[in-house]
Amino acid sequence: PQPNPQLGAAVAATDRAHVFHSWSAQELITPLAVAGADGSYFWDYEGNRYLDFTSGLVYTNIGYQHPKVVAAIQEQAASLATFAPAFAIEARSEAARLIAERTPGDLDKIFFTNGGAEAVENATRMARLHTGRPKVLSAYRSYHGATAAAINLTGDPRRWPSDTASAGVVHFWAPFLYRSPFYSENETQECERALTHLEDTIAFEGPGTIAAIILETIPGTAGIMPPPPGYLAGVRELCDRHGIVLVLDEVMAGFGRTGAWFAVDHYEGVVPDLLTFAKGVNSGYVPLGGVAISSAIAETFARRPYPGGLTYSGHPLACAAAVATLNVMADEGVVENAARVGADIIGPGLRELAARHPSVGEVRGIGMFWALELVRDRETREPLVPYNATGEANAPMASFAAAAKANGLWPFVNMNRTHVVPPCTITDAEAKAGLAALDRALDITDTHTT
Ligand code: PLP
Repeated sequence: PQPNPQLGAAVAATDRAHVFHSWSAQELITPLAVAGADGSYFWDYEGNRYLDFTSGLVYTNIGYQHPKVVAAIQEQAASLATFAPAFAIEARSEAARLIAERTPGDLDKIFFTNGGAEAVENATRMARLHTGRPKVLSAYRSYHGATAAAINLTGDPRRWPSDTASAGVVHFWAPFLYRSPFYSENETQECERALTHLEDTIAFEGPGTIAAIILETIPGTAGIMPPPPGYLAGVRELCDRHGIVLVLDEVMAGFGRTGAWFAVDHYEGVVPDLLTFAKGVNSGYVPLGGVAISSAIAETFARRPYPGGLTYSGHPLACAAAVATLNVMADEGVVENAARVGADIIGPGLRELAARHPSVGEVRGIGMFWALELVRDRETREPLVPYNATGEANAPMASFAAAAKANGLWPFVNMNRTHVVPPCTITDAEAKAGLAALDRALDITDTHTT
């Protein structure tokens, strides 16, 4: 495409005049004006092209502008662009069937929402009504969305301004060996101690007051920490013992991201009672999320109305996009590609970078879901920037991001970490090009080590 800097400047100026952006001090941001996108790349109006190692906000699992999904949305728009949720609509039924076919165990009923936070809102509502109990337990180092219940459940600083003490949420520590809250020295200890801590939390909160425990199967935004073997099975057992609903939040980790349809597929025998999803279900081409519901919880609402709903629940355009996305993923081996490129190229490539760059403290991940923990000192593990740093204190991470962009790579940055979360369709050559750009950007973070 021809560069068009004048149009780019006009788009950016109108944005600054009228668009109020998420999570931002409005006068301190300069959003890039994007002219287009295709596959793993997007480009601006100046003619700069970026390899997208963020998948948007970790959701374009099939990359941008997949022609079959674009066509399916166009066809649905031409035949039935919208219809109210109380009716049976072909695209909606088929999307629910395809999702239920992939979710584990007996999670065979699908409640559709517009995104992840609404999925979490409804999952916790279902759990509270199903159990008749008020509280929900969630983990520190988590993100569950920005609506009322979801932000209260979130375990990062984005919760602080919106916290309401009456939300009925109790936070606990989940396992994270690199920064172990339990002073563990290995994964076995971390697993045992985290489970004991959760068991104690349940005992002291009162098991009969707890409706649900919600966990990201593999925490995403908070740092991509795959739980140690046995942890999720242990949480499942605690939930069974106390009649607590287990909600696994797969909004980010689901639909191929980890090289499996769902992250929970990596943990044999673990089946949640509710599973929340969004993002990758249709690669975000049209907003869609939802809750996959077990037969026992579905039964609660078999003869008693479910007191929740949304005007756009199961929107035909979003559902048609999901049907096309799920079929494309199956036909083109997208989940297998994420597993293979993760195991053969990204994982080994990141470990090789860690060996050469003293600012890389740890590499963690699986599939297309990786984090680099950037540190000032590998021995003390002091983060490259302090927790929740802003402004000057965050300068080392800002200069890392600027260096990556100057090398044609759009990086995902959160606190002292960069996440490598490209589309699951990424090619070997693209993955290698991204690693080479990352290599150069890490030279900058190395200058901040002690
Ligand atoms: N849950 C998880 C695990 C997420 O990663 C996110 C978003 O990043 C959400 C919930 C919220 O989803 P949404 O932004 O679509 O409301």
